[in-house]
Amino acid sequence: MAKKSAKKSDKKAEKKAESKAARKAEDGAARVSLLGGDTADLLRVKLGFDLAALDPRSTPGFSGDKAAGKEELDAGVPELANLQERLFAASKGGAPESVLLVLQAMDTAGKGGIVRHVVGAVDPQGIALTAFKAPTAEELRHSFLWRVRRQLPTPGKIGVFDRSHYEDVLVHRVRKLTPLETIEKRYDEINAFERQVSAAGTRIVKIMLHISPEEQKARLAERLERPDKHWKYRPGDLDDRALWPDFQQAYQIALDRTSTELAPWYVVPADRKWYARLAVQHLLLETLRGIDPQWPAAEFDVEAEKARLAAL
Ligand code: ATP
Ligand code: MG
Repeated sequence: MAKKSAKKSDKKAEKKAESKAARKAEDGAARVSLLGGDTADLLRVKLGFDLAALDPRSTPGFSGDKAAGKEELDAGVPELANLQERLFAASKGGAPESVLLVLQAMDTAGKGGIVRHVVGAVDPQGIALTAFKAPTAEELRHSFLWRVRRQLPTPGKIGVFDRSHYEDVLVHRVRKLTPLETIEKRYDEINAFERQVSAAGTRIVKIMLHISPEEQKARLAERLERPDKHWKYRPGDLDDRALWPDFQQAYQIALDRTSTELAPWYVVPADRKWYARLAVQHLLLETLRGIDPQWPAAEFDVEAEKARLAAL
């Protein structure tokens, strides 16, 4: 009897091991990770970059499907959360580093989804999110960088700009809100500003979510179709849509003139939301790994505190 049941459990264990191995093999086939962990190199805007040549439906470096992409996004969360906590903790020990994620895109490209699904996976206390809308009367009284400077992340934080100072060379160029000579000077001002920000310890990661006009049309149609999405629709979005080629050109110029060593631009194909989220998560992961924040040493005598606690 005992022998029989031992045999039975042996068989059970064997079967379990077999199915585990089979699942592992399947996983290996379906879950192809982003290329060797160097998403940054893959998506960085380099000399000669041509926005029009990048397919918004493509998934550079990733050959898995949507399910695999979502799985990989989930798999990245613990490391992202850990690195964010270390960044925050390190600043308590005096480390100056912070991260600034700049998100720019045409309407409906999914900036909000990045904020919710990528940034939203970490402790909200470590995040400083700012959405830049058309400037207020007070903001207009200052230089275009004034409102941006006030929202820069302090040490330990991950700052997220949902739109940014780039509006002042994008929508301003397209809609001729500012004379062209002034806009021309702004690219250099931006580069000088970002050099300063970077020298103070902020790693700048600038991301353009790149969608196609066809995908935007589908997303806008859905917003009109569904009453629960009407709140997301702004009739003005169609005015920007009508100027699509001008916006693409303004983006190309901004990318050419402001993608620098210290503050590079990354263009993320965004017709597939799951890919864009995964790519941005990896860009953040790689940035934080580069900082490699360390837990600060205790500023008290640990052994003495243990003894005090034990005595109370
Ligand atoms: P969502 O539509 O997902 O809520 P959004 O970023 O599109 O996000 P909106 O309130 O729809 O938010 O639009 C903000 C508008 O403000 C955009 O049309 C943008 O071009 C404009 N804007 C932002 N900064 C500036 C600026 N410095 N000068 C002029 N317009 C600006
Ligand atoms: Mg909008």
